[in-house]
Amino acid sequence: MIVFNVPPYTGRELQYISQAVEQQKICGDGEFTRRCNSWIEERTGTKKCLLTTSCTHATELAALLSKVGPGDEVIMPSYTFVSTADAFVLRGAVPVFVDIRPDTMNIDETLIEDAVTERTKAIVPVHYAGVACEMDVIMEIARRHGLFVIEDAAQGIMSTYKGEALGTIGDFGAFSFHETKNYSMGEGGALLIRDTRYVEEAEILREKGTNRSKFFRGQIDKYTWVNYGSSYLPSDMNAAYLWAQLEMADAINNHRLALWDQYYEELLPLQEKGLLELPTVPEGCVHNAHMFYIKAKDLKERTALLAFLKEHDILSVFHYIPLHTAPAGLKFGRFHGKDVYTTRESERLCRLPMFYKLTAEEVSYITGKVKEFYHV
Ligand SMILES: *Cc1c(COP(=O)(O)O)cnc(C)c1O
Repeated sequence: MIVFNVPPYTGRELQYISQAVEQQKICGDGEFTRRCNSWIEERTGTKKCLLTTSCTHATELAALLSKVGPGDEVIMPSYTFVSTADAFVLRGAVPVFVDIRPDTMNIDETLIEDAVTERTKAIVPVHYAGVACEMDVIMEIARRHGLFVIEDAAQGIMSTYKGEALGTIGDFGAFSFHETKNYSMGEGGALLIRDTRYVEEAEILREKGTNRSKFFRGQIDKYTWVNYGSSYLPSDMNAAYLWAQLEMADAINNHRLALWDQYYEELLPLQEKGLLELPTVPEGCVHNAHMFYIKAKDLKERTALLAFLKEHDILSVFHYIPLHTAPAGLKFGRFHGKDVYTTRESERLCRLPMFYKLTAEEVSYITGKVKEFYHV
């Protein structure tokens, strides 16, 4: 059986977790959290990284920092995970969904401006499969209308857009370290902050509305309740697990990219025959092989393909059901413009197994079965 995902594990995780335990420092913002934060700051060039309990929580922090409130509108794709919308719905805002581009499955940047109203507060581009949205265009629209840009870079760590790390281009960026992501801590994430003006407020929000972060740095001699907030910092044991992977981030990234390239090469003849479609990585985008997907002709063919792969012990899966069609999406959001690609493309998409421990032999077996399905 080739499963769809195996959480990343490099071998040092347990050692680092024991180290955290031995240091008798297992709550938040210990040694491993600091290491992860600095590593992300150095690698991405962001001014400030704060490890969080999830990408969902990082996005909630970004929503709080952007002062998104009741009745405000936030523009995002409908083809995304629920958290992208949840973080803003919790603040009483309305997610305004616009259509995606069929080539990258990312928000269609040419449709965003038409969705801007007086109530619009932010744009939330989601970098699907770790492939960047057209950020130059998005940033320009945001500048012209005075909007925040919050990047849902849950899948985007180690990817770049015109040389800039995803998550660092907008005002705020959110990474995920869920077990399904390239680097993991079980459940976890990170908030990236571009403008240092927001750092102090973010630290307070993340620490239950207290200035405890300042206290830990020795900048004040006691800490107190200074604002509203919540608990968004992960335990140092989780950060220890993540550290074992960040230390080997390049090895993990290179291995995933090699598997991705192999999938692409072995399936390219099928695309050339017009049997299926492969992912597109636009010029200027460097991706992180978060995902390898193929697109079947339609829903019917995809259903048959998934069943065929399962019969041959390969667990391949579809992805998001467009949010605007879900019960909560109907209740809280609205779709602006026409759904030309969101539903149609989501029904064709099929994700093939992709994880650090996957081997070249397994990829060959999988592509062999896909070829068999298409009688190639
Ligand atoms: C995984 C994911 C999230 C949620 O991440 P969590 O860390 O589980 O909260 C949000 N958005 C996208 C696009 C994701 O892929």
